Amino acid sequence: MYRTHTCGELRVAQKGTEVTLAGWVQTVRKLGTAITFVDLRDRYGITQLLMGEDLTKQLDENPLGREFVLQATGVVNERSNKNPNIPTGEIEITVTSFKILNKSAVPPFTIQDDTDGGDDLRMKYRFLDLRRNAVKKNLELRYAVNRAARNYLHQNNFMDIETPFLIKSTPEGARDFVVPSRMNAGQFYALPQSPQTFKQLLMVSGYDRYYQIVKCFRDEDLRADRQPEFTQIDCEMAFVEQEDILNMFEGMIKSIFKDVKGIDYTEKVQRMTWEDAMWNYGNDKPDIRFDMKVLNLKKPSTVYTDKQDNATLINGADFKVFDEAETVVAIAVPGCSEYSRKQTDELTEWVKRPQIGMKGLVFIKVNADGTYKSSVDKFYSEEKLKAIADAANAKAGDLILILAGAEERTRKAISDLRMEMATRLGLRKDTEFKLLWVLDFPLFEYDEEGNRWVARHHPFTSPKPTQIETMIYNNPVIENAAEYLKHPYANIKANAYDMVLNGNEIGGGSIRIFQRELQEKMFAALGMNEEEQLHKFGFLLGAFEYGAPPHGGIAFGFDRLCAILGGSESIRDFIAFPKNNSGRDVMLDAPATIDEKQFEELQIKLNLK
Ligand code: ASP
Repeated sequence: MYRTHTCGELRVAQKGTEVTLAGWVQTVRKLGTAITFVDLRDRYGITQLLMGEDLTKQLDENPLGREFVLQATGVVNERSNKNPNIPTGEIEITVTSFKILNKSAVPPFTIQDDTDGGDDLRMKYRFLDLRRNAVKKNLELRYAVNRAARNYLHQNNFMDIETPFLIKSTPEGARDFVVPSRMNAGQFYALPQSPQTFKQLLMVSGYDRYYQIVKCFRDEDLRADRQPEFTQIDCEMAFVEQEDILNMFEGMIKSIFKDVKGIDYTEKVQRMTWEDAMWNYGNDKPDIRFDMKVLNLKKPSTVYTDKQDNATLINGADFKVFDEAETVVAIAVPGCSEYSRKQTDELTEWVKRPQIGMKGLVFIKVNADGTYKSSVDKFYSEEKLKAIADAANAKAGDLILILAGAEERTRKAISDLRMEMATRLGLRKDTEFKLLWVLDFPLFEYDEEGNRWVARHHPFTSPKPTQIETMIYNNPVIENAAEYLKHPYANIKANAYDMVLNGNEIGGGSIRIFQRELQEKMFAALGMNEEEQLHKFGFLLGAFEYGAPPHGGIAFGFDRLCAILGGSESIRDFIAFPKNNSGRDVMLDAPATIDEKQFEELQIKLNLK
């Protein structure tokens, strides 16, 4: 062994012991001609080495540089000048001999918490970035989450079963990465977007509780914080109903909270239907750490047909913006009634940005003295403003923000505005965790480009039993694209659920279809003819004929879960070797071209457009 101890473990209790440490040189400080201090770092911590006169002389001839790999033997001593900031701060090693195990080039950035290296440089030299404490902590947390999940699942009889990476396409709504086959020239494997069909086959095989912490691959345009390869905690259970799954995985997340963060999340996880989430928060993954619910002043007649809007509060005032809008929604922002003109103008500009896409913003200030001030005073009497404010549950001191426009855009905008205001008000604390189940998602989603219905989750998700008839007997042809919301498919709900943590979808799954006939109907509803069904999913349809049990499952976004538990917005920080926003590994410089010989073996000729 190169060492007797790590750089993080020695304390005053070991005073007088002879030890050998090995690690990387963090800093070298020479005091006069007789003393050199070296901070030696490894995965476990930092220990101060004290080199006396002779060794300092040796170092003068053969200087140590940052990140040199050093082995040092010496005696543990109590420091006179203690450092309370590090666990080994009370001791130092009085070195008797050392050996440079390897030199290091000058690192391109400093290996410390507040490094001087920019993102790109740190990605290029990720192996050095990984030496930094901040990154190491994230990977440690990731491993802790991994262990906690495995422990829980193991205790609950789940079996980790590996599934292949070289497969045929699995539709999860993204594009596949494909891999050419040399032995079957002209044919391609797809990398799994998830092990979805395999885990279902495992249920048919009788492995009634499966899990895997597994890589998934999706060739998507990488929006802000996505990775082309990411990790899921992928699970499936047989002989279960939705309620069983919700309970089991609520348990898993709580157990992860406990093991990783020491948090006792004892309260029952809140539940909300998809429709209520959209209606009350404008979002299917609402952040419920704070309230600020949406007041629906006006909605189109085709959506949320069971819900009542408050149109009477705004109608009849001759205010064109509201009269002509499809949807009018509001939030009451706590404690902001004293916003200046400049501040409300800035908010108006904020909602007009192309990402939000609103034409303007209407506000009502509920002043502390009980009076009301609004940008639409001309149209609405104080009495009417009060009625709107009351409906929005606004209190004195609140600022009501109102958006008007087309349904989908406006609903999304009010959700974005709600999140923005909460961020500004410090209501999104990364030390507070709020879980939520969102249930009863729509089964289908309208794809404008193709003027057709696509599966909102994936095609293996079962419809609510009472709506199976609608699915089977209605023709999926959408004659009038503008009115797709009137099509019967728009209202079919799925036995599908998402787990939301602090406004992030951390997991999603469904109770599956397990009868061949219904699965065929589902494929047909998605516009797949029989031939295509057999070509793509013949194996699954076939398996369903051999005693497929009722089953369902869920998959958690492992990287995202780690990032949230680590109080970070970025999943990249929790992945050892992540890709950048263009899907490149800048350290490997991948993707890259391949040799002519490889093309020949694959019998592939490039014909780039
Ligand atoms: N395979 C699904 C996904 O990746 C999860 C599931 O339905 O279990 O989203």
